Amino acid sequence: MRGENLTLRGMRNLLPDEKAKLNKIESEIRRLFKIYGFQEVETPTIEPLELFELKSGEEIRHRMYRFTDLGGREVVLRPEATASIVKLVVQELRSAPLPIKIGYVLNAFRYDEPQYGRYREFKQGGFEIFGSKSPLADAEILEISSRLMESLGIKDYYIKIGHEGVLRAALTHFNIEERVQDRVLGLIDKERLTEAFEILSSLQKGREAINILRSLWEIKSRDPDEAFRRAGEVLKEIPEAVDQLENLREIIDLAKASKVGEFLVDMGFARGLDYYTGMIFEVYVKNLKIAVNGGGRYDKLAGLLGWDVPAVGCAPGIDRLSLAMDEKTVPRDDLVCMVVSMVKEGDILAAKLAGTLRMRGVPTLVDYTRRDVSKALSYASKRNVKYVALIGGREVEANNVALKNMETGSQEELGIEQVVEKLSSYSLQKT
Ligand code: AMP
Repeated sequence: MRGENLTLRGMRNLLPDEKAKLNKIESEIRRLFKIYGFQEVETPTIEPLELFELKSGEEIRHRMYRFTDLGGREVVLRPEATASIVKLVVQELRSAPLPIKIGYVLNAFRYDEPQYGRYREFKQGGFEIFGSKSPLADAEILEISSRLMESLGIKDYYIKIGHEGVLRAALTHFNIEERVQDRVLGLIDKERLTEAFEILSSLQKGREAINILRSLWEIKSRDPDEAFRRAGEVLKEIPEAVDQLENLREIIDLAKASKVGEFLVDMGFARGLDYYTGMIFEVYVKNLKIAVNGGGRYDKLAGLLGWDVPAVGCAPGIDRLSLAMDEKTVPRDDLVCMVVSMVKEGDILAAKLAGTLRMRGVPTLVDYTRRDVSKALSYASKRNVKYVALIGGREVEANNVALKNMETGSQEELGIEQVVEKLSSYSLQKT
């Protein structure tokens, strides 16, 4: 066993720099919870299999970590968070005033083939709004997605947007039942058009459905007006689909009014999760080929669990946002002081100084090694420590410390109270 790599494929150890970046993203997500009035919750990591068999999409269902627990129950590690959040809302929050705005930061597990930006355990943030069909709610989700990118310093992004309602209305018009719609849209999401069209071609009005889907598939434009004009033309005989198209136009207009970034309207866009019923979107960073955030409207999912309440939301992928973030924005360690006791008699003074600084909230290390001062200073400099308090025989006698400023190299003799006073301004504030 020794020497073997004991980390499973697709799983990661997150080292300090990477973890600091992920923490920063999580804290930006939580800041947005506050700004937009979302209340954070947490759901279980392990859920009953049935929950994700409801509507999570074939692709995800096939890639779940599932097992039988010791009680003989079929369970899964959650492959995504939305189904769990919906369950929580339906079970626990039915009497809460609408709209209910729920936020979360959770890990999820998918037995996907690992590749760049695709892991078997990853973290998603989430914003879900329950109880409103208004396009203002859809637009708010887009607005949050945009603000998140900006707050992380990612400027080069665009939002790919489409509407499952348009596709589903067109398929329903040709009598394609919902189960088949789910499979066809799942394949379209994977760009497996030939297979999707094969399923349709055996059905009575399948040919007509294929023609419409093919024409919509070709409409991809950064100019929403152009996309709507062309889609309106394709769908002119299907009024239900035109209504859905109008809904998308309204959402985009509202989003633009709140300064949401660039759109790529993609009329053939479908997402692998079966529960979407309306607007759907993914956020892309221009030099990264993978989506960093995804979401949409899912008006029927809560109904399957017993409460018919409309919903819209999104799940930013925290690990992928980290890939998209500029390295420079990694927060550095903010260690302020390292106390070095060079002689045993100095330990009491060291413990007193370090203890007082820490009680005041000043990040402080103690060097326990009694190593050569130059080595202790080199360690301090690698950890970005601002000040080193040196305590040798002379300092013990004078009851003071030699405080070295690591940036300027200057050194001064100070009593404990003076050091504490000098460094108190670096105190981490309680939040
Ligand atoms: P989804 O639940 O598929 O809509 O995914 C929402 C977001 O989670 C995506 O846009 C990705 O950023 C992220 N995500 C999904 N699957 C993975 C994965 N296997 N590894 C890392 N991030 C993922």
